[in-house]
Amino acid sequence: MTDSPAPLLKPAYERVLLKLSGEVFCRDGEGGISMSELESISAQIKRLVDSGVQLAIVCGGGNILRGKQFSSSSGSINPATAHYMGMLATVINGLALQDALENAGVPTRLQTAIRMEGVAEPFIRRRCVRHLEKGRVVILAAGTGSPFVTTDTAAALRSREIDADILLKATKVDGIYSDDPEKNPHAVRFSEISYRDVLHKNLQVMDAQALHHCMEHGIPILVFNFRKTGNIEKAVAGENIGTRVLPTVESRTES
Ligand code: UDP
Repeated sequence: MTDSPAPLLKPAYERVLLKLSGEVFCRDGEGGISMSELESISAQIKRLVDSGVQLAIVCGGGNILRGKQFSSSSGSINPATAHYMGMLATVINGLALQDALENAGVPTRLQTAIRMEGVAEPFIRRRCVRHLEKGRVVILAAGTGSPFVTTDTAAALRSREIDADILLKATKVDGIYSDDPEKNPHAVRFSEISYRDVLHKNLQVMDAQALHHCMEHGIPILVFNFRKTGNIEKAVAGENIGTRVLPTVESRTES
């Protein structure tokens, strides 16, 4: 006899932007794309979509290439070119995710910030929103289309453009800590923290440009561990996981 799946959690948000870093697509410590990781993340995403939430996903590309790896001005690859290579890496992940989601029965559209009509639609805000309203997951690739920034910035900008209720940042750690939890056993996790404290304490959450954008426009962020099965669904259900970054809160750590 097979176990019946757990009941779906009720979403606390109507429209969500999920930032999936490149590390989501590969096994710990490896690069490239792992089929099992892809299938596991797709199964988690399917549950979200089944619960009725509108979902846009910004893909990272660090499992394949980051521009700064090549961006020394003394090398033979121009720094801007290196960042365009990074953006193309996010398209590779986007294509893989699109097929994995469609195989799991999730309708999707892939939109890119750099035009490549043969493989994807261009990012057009109104069209993106229309897809979301029709229950399609929109995968957003090629970042912002401009070099020298990261997909965190793309996630912050797109959150505002599509009016997302929250930006979910899926990571390998349980949230934002006072210090690197792998190096400092006394590091504590914040359950809530303000944008300002993240900046003042120089906590490594996302790039400063992305954080500034969220702060300026009051876009709430939830940083959480995607490796714990069910966490993406819990994040969207508003459960107390990870770290919430909000406009004006007293920073609170987990007791
Ligand atoms: N990138 C860029 N402009 C953007 C988004 C990304 O130039 O708007 C490049 C940048 O070089 C970055 C790479 O694409 O390092 C891959 O994205 P990112 O590092 O954000 O991936 P992640 O860390 O999320 O896996």
